[in-house]
Amino acid sequence: MEDCIFCKIINKDIPADIVYEDDEIFAFKDIHPLAPVHILIIPKEHIQTIDDLEEGHERLAGKMILVAKKIARDMNISDKGYKLLFRVKKHGGQEVDHIHLHLIGGALLSEGIWAINNER
Ligand code: AMP
Ligand code: ZN
Repeated sequence: MEDCIFCKIINKDIPADIVYEDDEIFAFKDIHPLAPVHILIIPKEHIQTIDDLEEGHERLAGKMILVAKKIARDMNISDKGYKLLFRVKKHGGQEVDHIHLHLIGGALLSEGIWAINNER
């Protein structure tokens, strides 16, 4: 996708601090970290949101979680734990329309997921 910032990162058209890459998955440090460790794990395939996943994506989606687990181990945050977060569309706070799994840790994290109000 031409205008997708994460596709540009995958293609190395814009720089990123890469922590993992294989033929299907790419991971890099978030530019505005919320904690000492904040990594984004993304599929190389441009899929806009979790809501756009289809049958056939099971293995890819599962692999994203296993890559997150591997990175967490490599960064020595597994013993104490971490959060994995998918934001989905507007109500989920998704800002970049290319699926990304946040791996956040390295410190005790706040809950921070409650609703701003109860309007749907
Ligand atoms: P979300 O709000 O879930 O869509 O998260 C998007 C994330 O992408 C935010 O945490 C941003 O800080 C991060 N981000 C945006 N642009 C870049 C970039 N060029 N390099 C690394 N992280 C980025
Ligand atoms: Zn993309």
